[in-house]
Amino acid sequence: MIIISIKLLYKYGKPKALTLSYDDGVCQDIKLISILNKYNIKCTFNLNSGLWHDQTPWQTEGAVIYRMAPDKLPELYNGHEVAMHMVHHPRPLTLTDQQLKAETLGDQANLQRLFGYKIRGLAYPFGDFDERVVNILRSIGVAYARTVRQTESFSLPKDFLVWDSTCHHNNHKLIELADSFLNTNQDLALFYLWGHSYEFDLDNNWDVIEIFCKKVANHDDIWFATNIEIYDYINALNKLVMDEQSRTITNYSDVPLWIELGQKVYEIPARSTLERAAL
Ligand SMILES: [Zn+2]
Repeated sequence: MIIISIKLLYKYGKPKALTLSYDDGVCQDIKLISILNKYNIKCTFNLNSGLWHDQTPWQTEGAVIYRMAPDKLPELYNGHEVAMHMVHHPRPLTLTDQQLKAETLGDQANLQRLFGYKIRGLAYPFGDFDERVVNILRSIGVAYARTVRQTESFSLPKDFLVWDSTCHHNNHKLIELADSFLNTNQDLALFYLWGHSYEFDLDNNWDVIEIFCKKVANHDDIWFATNIEIYDYINALNKLVMDEQSRTITNYSDVPLWIELGQKVYEIPARSTLERAAL
């Protein structure tokens, strides 16, 4: 019997993916987006829809930081993903179940109204979560939620509602990690970077993100995607079924999926089977 060894691939047959996640929706996102767009890198921006009417800048160590007025935001974040960060940036652990639902669903409704598409993901304000918080988010249909933990690895989360990053942009190993990501053969390797764009002003280190983007951009083997695109693709991959006996691989999902078999890359269209003749 021939054992088929499959390597799962990301969209378009790319072996690796890279995504970013930036919080709070402040004015420094404008500069961050101009850098990301220059390098075709995708980011998910986590916004607090109850705070952007208060545009009073807060002054910290010389940097002016404020949340932007909502009317310009759909154009600004176009091409990236917008996700929830709860309405008022609360501390989730201090909220009752009901408050937690209201802060999350309220943010979702506000963002959906403004951006005109389904808002499905979230970043935990202050990185605060526990089992109760996770279970509540799951019960109201939140797709994924990002923590502020850093794994310094390229693994996918076991539970997308506890989605740890590879690292924060201030991690002193950032460039070392980027280099090892570029060289890794790990299956479905994911580089997940997070932070706040205002930190680049506070720390006067915009060069960090510029250097990182320049290093990882324009690599043909990397899929640059938002958080939700990765979430959806991985869920679709979980609907790939291999039948050893008939030597077929069936894609039961609604999107095309990519695999590698013996150095060859195959695209399996939605709801279709790769027959033995092809294997
Ligand atoms: Zn935040």
